[in-house]
Amino acid sequence: MNSTTETIKPSRLQRITLAGTAFLLVVGAVTGGFVLHRNALVETLRHKQALYADLAALRGKAGAGSDADSTVIEFMLDKVIESAVEAEEPGIAGSLAQKRNILKNASTSDREIFLLALDRAVQKSDSEFRSALDDCTRASNQFVTVISLLFLILFLIVRKEIHRNYIMTLIPLERLSQKISTMNRSIPESVRDTAEAIRNDLAIAPHSSEISRLTGTLADFCAEIEAKNKKLDELFIRDEKTNLYNYRHFKEHLIMEIERSKRADDQVSIAMIDLDHFKRYNDEHGHIAGDRVLEQLAGIIAEQCRSSDMPSRFGGEEFAVLFPQTGTETAMRISERLRQVICAEPFSHEKHQPEGRLTVSIGIASFPADAKDWYTLINNADRALYHAKSSGRNRVCSFSSISSKEETP
Ligand code: GH3
Ligand code: MG
Ligand code: MG
Repeated sequence: MNSTTETIKPSRLQRITLAGTAFLLVVGAVTGGFVLHRNALVETLRHKQALYADLAALRGKAGAGSDADSTVIEFMLDKVIESAVEAEEPGIAGSLAQKRNILKNASTSDREIFLLALDRAVQKSDSEFRSALDDCTRASNQFVTVISLLFLILFLIVRKEIHRNYIMTLIPLERLSQKISTMNRSIPESVRDTAEAIRNDLAIAPHSSEISRLTGTLADFCAEIEAKNKKLDELFIRDEKTNLYNYRHFKEHLIMEIERSKRADDQVSIAMIDLDHFKRYNDEHGHIAGDRVLEQLAGIIAEQCRSSDMPSRFGGEEFAVLFPQTGTETAMRISERLRQVICAEPFSHEKHQPEGRLTVSIGIASFPADAKDWYTLINNADRALYHAKSSGRNRVCSFSSISSKEETP
């Protein structure tokens, strides 16, 4: 898996969080703007209301009759002019300021003109107040409409997202988990097959990039398990030092081959190979040098065998070769050639060996001629090997030859 070199895209969740934050910012900005605008409108409304109240009070006082105190009216008029300025009504302020002069020593007709001017101002102020009130109501309605629109858009986006999530993620995820639980229940022949099945199954349905990534990771994970299983299988059947098959694997195949021979009325042979005077070699040159000899020897044995044969390390300095569908004669021929090659092979320090070289002794036994089962076959090959040792080493002996000699008086 090469996950470290993969470019990491912002996840969907990150994008959704970002969009959510942007939405909240827009709502916040709209609300803030509205609050400021509304405050300004309310302030204007308050001034217009105050102006209207002052104008109404002035009109009441001025219209009360000739005994009305002109100083009080003048004072009230000043206040109204002030209120008109605050309420941003320059028209009312200007027209009333002009009428202020006619109040002193005013004739009855002037007074009537003043009252008429006041009536007009009251009317205008009333309509301005109503219009300011309308502005306030309109602004509130607009705010509610904009916020409702924003939430409607949000609702549509969320609905689409949930739908997309259901189709592209939840459904494929459900299928994926079903596959994985099936895989857990019955461990498949090949983990890779299951990974491919998951990939193929998902390929027909639409799914999100997250699911693709998950499926890819799962497929890679299965491929890795498969590769590790293969390595484990190799470790299980190989001898660590020589890389030949180990005794476990040799025995399993020997049993299988014997069963096959019984059914096919065929033969199986084995050779037990043992290094001559190897203890001496180890004692003189050390176990590390001895190990190198074992590795070199394993290479020669593997090279000299046919592809159908099974060269194995039996244990210690002993090797065993399984010859399927092979009789004593052929096994003897291959073993003799092997012995000669080993004898001719230069090994380090071999000059110090008793014969001045490193050699092997080999014992051969065949099924069904020499034994009726696998362990008797191994025992008899061992007996042939023992015979090869006792009759001088560096030679190949078959069990059939020693048993016929033993039988002959
Ligand atoms: P013979 O010709 O009768 O077979 O004599 P031998 O000395 O080979 O036989 P013996 O059974 O007396 O000694 C076998 C030696 O093989 C003893 C042991 O040190 C050596 N040996 C067994 N396994 C290993 C191994 O894995 N590495 C090394 N270096 N030596 C081993
Ligand atoms: Mg031995
Ligand atoms: Mg030996």
